[in-house]
Amino acid sequence: MTSKYHIGIDLGGTKIEVAILNSQNEILFRERLLTEAHLGAEHIFNQIHALYAKALICIQNKTHTLGLGTPGSISNKTRLLKNSNTLCLNGLPLQSLLEDKLVHDILIENDANCFALAEALMGSGKGYPFVFGVIMGSGCGGGIVFDGKIRQGPQNIAGEWGHMVIDPQGAHCYCGANGCVESFISGGGLEKRIKDKTGNTLSAQKFFNNNLKDQALKDIKQDFYARFGQALANLINILDPDIVVLGGGLSNEKSLYKKGIAEVYQRIFNDIPTTPIVKNKLGDSAGVIGAALISQKLIQ
Ligand SMILES: [Zn+2]
Repeated sequence: MTSKYHIGIDLGGTKIEVAILNSQNEILFRERLLTEAHLGAEHIFNQIHALYAKALICIQNKTHTLGLGTPGSISNKTRLLKNSNTLCLNGLPLQSLLEDKLVHDILIENDANCFALAEALMGSGKGYPFVFGVIMGSGCGGGIVFDGKIRQGPQNIAGEWGHMVIDPQGAHCYCGANGCVESFISGGGLEKRIKDKTGNTLSAQKFFNNNLKDQALKDIKQDFYARFGQALANLINILDPDIVVLGGGLSNEKSLYKKGIAEVYQRIFNDIPTTPIVKNKLGDSAGVIGAALISQKLIQ
């Protein structure tokens, strides 16, 4: 039987979002709750359940498919979640726990892969064969979509660009390495950097909106654009995608598309760099749409 409705859940480090698509992939419903990861895994599952319950009311409990995007991925060997920056979820059998909680089959995919798929099929990447989707949110992820399909890789780590080391002297990351891309240009990484270097607690949004007078903050900002340039040029030099689409909270920062791109282009290994680097079209959390799209794989 073909389902008329496809529910996607995006499990982010800061917020959880649910969306419903109909069979024409039109968005019928979208809502968010805070993840509040510090309250633990059980609380996160309750938040997911609360959003799912609202979605079910919206479609009057009708038949649907269900997909979930999360940082990290499910280990092929153990079926346990690995590599998530929501650390309390790592090592848990996320799929079976959620299937029991929501009483429904669920397809789980990396959140950046979901984001890249949504933008490739319905957003800024539409019409481009090879789309690299970047998430700059609480953490930093990447997803590869080629000819409308997610490239997962044999270890489910394709596109995990956030943990590429760009400065071995940089801050220690939960992944075990020092100086990952994520520690420099994710929202969470940037806020931690500001705190470590200046003692200030400043949100990434305020950091960009304020006319900074403090020299240390100015230096961090300059370094941010340079790191963005380094990180994106590295991946463009390897993959040479047709387009790079930015998502996550920091993708709303306008200066990325001028100053940031200039820093990327001067590091691309080509005489005249041409890779379009653009903002998402489906909102900074297009991943929720991707989660609904991948759920359609569950259709028999
Ligand atoms: Zn790392």
